Amino acid sequence: MSDPEKPLPDPATVAAAFGVAADMAHGAVAPPLYMSSTYEFAGFDEPRLYDYGRAGNPTRDLLAEALTRLEGGAGAVITSSGMAALDLLVGRLRPDDLILAPHDCYGGTMRLLKARSSRGHCSVRFVDQSDDAAIAAALEEVPALVLIETPSNPLMRIVDIAALSAMAKQVGAAVAVDNTFLSPAIQCPISLGTDYVIHSTTKYLNGHSDVIGGAVIAADPSEVQNLRQWANIVGSGGSPFDSWLTLRGLRTLFARMRIQQSNAMAVATYLERQPAVSKVHYPGLSTHPGHTIASRQQDGFGAMLSFELAGGVEAARSFIANVKFFTLAESLGGVESLVAHPATMTHADMGAEARAVAGISDSLLRLSIGLEAEQDLIAGLECGLAACAV
Ligand code: PLP
Repeated sequence: MSDPEKPLPDPATVAAAFGVAADMAHGAVAPPLYMSSTYEFAGFDEPRLYDYGRAGNPTRDLLAEALTRLEGGAGAVITSSGMAALDLLVGRLRPDDLILAPHDCYGGTMRLLKARSSRGHCSVRFVDQSDDAAIAAALEEVPALVLIETPSNPLMRIVDIAALSAMAKQVGAAVAVDNTFLSPAIQCPISLGTDYVIHSTTKYLNGHSDVIGGAVIAADPSEVQNLRQWANIVGSGGSPFDSWLTLRGLRTLFARMRIQQSNAMAVATYLERQPAVSKVHYPGLSTHPGHTIASRQQDGFGAMLSFELAGGVEAARSFIANVKFFTLAESLGGVESLVAHPATMTHADMGAEARAVAGISDSLLRLSIGLEAEQDLIAGLECGLAACAV
């Protein structure tokens, strides 16, 4: 129970300071990094809190506790990648369990779900989660798990988390949200009724493009134990050093997000006015079909956006050759701005047919907006657009 004398800290305070100055041995302000793979027993049949690094590690647990508090869950498991986080949920399913996943999910998510289902480990149905009739029909098949990605990657479609969670609960399905694109600085799915949040901590939570990591946060304490046990069974826990780096990155999450999403809004507004651009996908724009839901369930619009060029794939090629201040690379959520061409990069494995169904065209470009000065980002985009003017 919370102590009324000690008000709960704001999430920004948790991110900046959870675990700071808690070192009992030397009073270190920055939490220490425990690299040891094994721990001395206190005596015969007397294990301490930690015995072996696959099962538990103090540095990893500190990050898990910080993310638990930020997401409002009961506990978290830190994994070696975002895909390992998703597989912590999927790998425990049984052959007759069905997963309902978005038809425009991250390409790696689709690849994992297809790989698991093609081996008979579970089955999967990809649906357009903005289509109420398709969702209702799919829920009649009584899925075990509904996976939501909002905003979706790369088209930034918005799913009403509370509404879909309520529908899923009626058929007894568990609900997981991939919160990678926003982070708990902007969206807290458990408060909207979901059972799990998953993250690629590789992105905003670490924020510096130097760690691959993931996390699952569960709302139910017994599920936290089950997930920890499964992570120990399959050995998918994150490394102590990566956890330490991610905790270090987390310190600035709220400040980074404020600037990055302000830059993203400026970029989206600029792109919307350019004749070479045929469409901009950014939930912060009032013209975006998910704007109203995003305004309700998010505390900001994030720093990811995508746009389509009127000149097709050739225009995309020219843009990428000429744009400045944006690096052509996969991934997102770092302090530096990136541009990606989903059809040949992040979503290449989906295949042309699935991309067409999901609406991912060959002229679509995805931007991860960083911390650079807004005017430099706009000037850099201008260089790219000048080369593909229609
Ligand atoms: N979820 C989303 C939305 C992603 O964009 C990604 C990677 O780009 C992942 C999960 C997978 O994360 P990781 O690369 O850390 O395995």
